[in-house]
Formats: sequence, C-alpha cells, structure tokens
Amino acid sequence: MRPSWVEVDLDAIAQNAAAIAAEVAPATLCAVVKADGYGHGDIPVAEAAIRGGATSLAVALVEEGVRLRDAGIEAPILLLSEPPLGDAARIVERRLIPTVYRWEFAAALSAAADGPVAVHVKVDTGMHRVGADPEDVRALAEMISADSNLELDGLWTHFAVAEEDPEFTKHQIAIFQGVADDLADTGVVVPMLHAANTAGALDYPEARFDMVRVGLGLYGLRPAPDTGRGVALRPAMRVVSAVSMVKRLSAGERPSYGRRRPLPSDAAVATVPVGYADGVSRRLTDEGHVLIGGRRRHFAGSVTMDQLVVDMGDDDVAVGDEVVVLGVQGNAAITADDWAELLSTINYEVVCHFGPRLPRRYIRGGR
Ligand SMILES: *Cc1c(COP(=O)(O)O)cnc(C)c1O
Repeated sequence: MRPSWVEVDLDAIAQNAAAIAAEVAPATLCAVVKADGYGHGDIPVAEAAIRGGATSLAVALVEEGVRLRDAGIEAPILLLSEPPLGDAARIVERRLIPTVYRWEFAAALSAAADGPVAVHVKVDTGMHRVGADPEDVRALAEMISADSNLELDGLWTHFAVAEEDPEFTKHQIAIFQGVADDLADTGVVVPMLHAANTAGALDYPEARFDMVRVGLGLYGLRPAPDTGRGVALRPAMRVVSAVSMVKRLSAGERPSYGRRRPLPSDAAVATVPVGYADGVSRRLTDEGHVLIGGRRRHFAGSVTMDQLVVDMGDDDVAVGDEVVVLGVQGNAAITADDWAELLSTINYEVVCHFGPRLPRRYIRGGR
C-alpha cells in the first residue's frame, strides 16, 4: 500500500478533552465530532473524547449520528441543525437529540414520536445562520411544552465571533440570557442551557452555562492563537508519507507539471506519494513545504493530484525516508495554522481537507 496516511493520536484527544472538561466544570463537555471528527475519524474520536470526560456528542447530520449509533456508541448525540422534515422518524428511531427552531419540524417530530422526544431549541442571537428569532422562542417553547410527545430539554445559541470580538459575544450572551429568563418567568423550565464553542468555553466563563460544545479544542487546535492560553492542548493529527523516488537533477531543470520554476542549483529532488486529491492543496505549490530529516523542505514544482516533488538541495535523502506533511518531526513542525496562513483560510478547514484516500492510523496508549 502507498505509504501515506493520517496519524491520529487518540491519547492527545482524550487529554485535550480532560483538560477542557476540568476547565469548564461544573459545566459538562459535549464533544463535537461532525465532518468525520474534523477529519480525524468520528468514531475513534468520539470514544477518546468520552474516555477523556466528555458526556455527550454533537454532529451536523442525521447520517453522522446514525454512524455513531451503528458503532455502538450510547452517549447522547445532539444534532446541531434541523434536517429535512422527512428525517424525523429516523431521529426518533436512533435516539438522536434534535435541535428545533421551526414549528413545522417540532410537529414532524411529534408525529414520529413513540414516547416523549427530548428536543433542544436553538435561538439565533446574532450568528444569523439558523435558529429561532428571540421573539419567537416563547411561542415555540410553549408549543413544545404543551405537546406530550415532546420534551423541552435544552435551549441553546451559537457564537459568531467568540475568538475575536468580546463586545459582540457579550451581546449574544445577554440576548440568550434574556430569552432563558423570559421562559423561566412564564414557568417553562429548561433543564439545559448551552452556548459556547471552543472559544466561548475557554475564554468566557459566563458562557459555559450547563454544557459547552467543543470541537476544535478537542483536536488540539485553537480558533485564535491566544484562545484558552491557560489550557494545554496538543494537536492530534499528523499527515505522514515516505519518499518514493529520488532524482539527481541539474540547476535549471524544471520538475513537475507546468515546468513552473528552475532549480536554483544542482539538487536531489525527492518524490512523495501524496497530492491534491489527498488534501495537499495545489495552491501550496509556491510556498508549501514538508519535513524530511527534521527540516523544512520546499516543493520543487507543482503539487500534482497524487504526488509532489521536494527540493532537497545537497542533502542526503533515500527512498523510504519519512515525510511529514503536517505535524512534528524531530524538532521541526508544520502546523495547521501554518497551512491556514499560506492558504488564506482557517485551521478548521485544513484538518477537514485530508480525504478518505489517506487511511487513518490511530495511536492509543502510546502505540
Ligand atoms: C461546529 C460547531 C461547534 C464547535 O465549534 P468549535 O469552534 O470547533 O469548538 C459548536 N456549536 C455548533 C452549533 C457548531 O456548528
């Protein structure tokens, strides 16, 4: 098999979960494992997060929740947005916890119910993506409370800028608190309030309420460099390959598609069997690099679909030498933040991009 894979350190995930759980207690930790655990592998990540102290899970899609249930995971699983109405029966059957913000969906759940279905209502306090408007929450909550097939178990919101704008985040917290207080005044008891993502959980103690929904931090990454400074987090993902061929080329030769640039001097050029179809963006061609022999090495030409070429200069390199595309090698590291900077994106997108063609290898108990 091609020697290219994504290595995921489940001990790091469990330790990150434990560090975050300790920081936010007595609030509980809901581990967000949508999008295949941000590319790390949803099922192993969910199990590691639970080992570390998470007491529930969250996913974006019904299919993602079903995958976890099929794997035998029994923890509560929250759906982060409403699916199409036709999915209501599936949600009930697989005991997923639906988020509700439109009365049509509440009605669909009620019709599919075979006993009281616990639901969480989402209120839009400023993200403006999904959620009920604050002024509509009371009517929705009353409708749910009046329906014996439904049980109002949670009320939640989501932050738009918790990693960068305290003023707006505090404004969102205040609106959320206002909606919760208004419900309490009308006698509607909501057992669980939650609002915080990673940045909210680590940097806004007042936003922790009863539970925090943490994704990025679990994987050892921070939404901004200073988020949660006091909490130790270790990146869980490494992307690793091995040199598949070495060519001695002369100054002026132009490796790879497009013959984009001449080698500045005679060099060993190492080929690495990983490319843009695996998630190494072609946009890294000019500025990208990998680690070989504990040092950063620049690409010698275009990243191709399945392979890339690396300028090793005068240094020794042999077929089989380890190549680190993302992560630590010796004293050197390439972080998801480094990539995000080069690609004008965020570390979230970087880790999500390593595709299914790269097998996942899991480290557990140091092995
Ligand atoms: C993805 C997501 C989270 C987790 O956000 P992080 O910044 O990764 O911690 C929390 N809540 C909702 C609604 C989400 O969509």
